[in-house]
Amino acid sequence: MKHINEKKLSAYTDGELPENETNKIKDHLKLCSDCRKKAEQLFDVMDLLGSIEEKEVSPYFFSKIKYKISLNNPGNTTYSFFNRWAIFKNPKSVLIPSGVMLIVLLIVFTGNNLGKIFHTKVINQEQMISEEFNSLLNISSLDTNPEGSLISKYSILIGGDNE
Ligand SMILES: [Zn+2]
Repeated sequence: MKHINEKKLSAYTDGELPENETNKIKDHLKLCSDCRKKAEQLFDVMDLLGSIEEKEVSPYFFSKIKYKISLNNPGNTTYSFFNRWAIFKNPKSVLIPSGVMLIVLLIVFTGNNLGKIFHTKVINQEQMISEEFNSLLNISSLDTNPEGSLISKYSILIGGDNE
């Protein structure tokens, strides 16, 4: 009698085989204690994996978070925010990344705005300085350098021209 190979047996315990193959294996397992033992072991492994998966998606995970949030912020709206969020999203995979994303977005958003405000202020200051400088010199063009005026002294200073 030909034994069932492990690949097929594992597919059988996973329920991945078509019905006719499943029936063949069932018939073999009735007669062969060796293969039956192997199949039982595979079923045990599946039970173990199943219980681990159940623990991962356990509602206690979320209860703990809710409890911690309620401890930190009694009566805060954060609680209902997370609660509503979790109805649509898998808390295991999305809750923490979305929280991180939110913080990152917040930093980027505020940082970007701060940058814009700072940049605008610098530009305004530069314009004010150049406008003040022009009005101080009381000229509109640098081509005309009246003798003894501030601009002629200024051009001597920057040009190093002593004449
Ligand atoms: Zn067998």
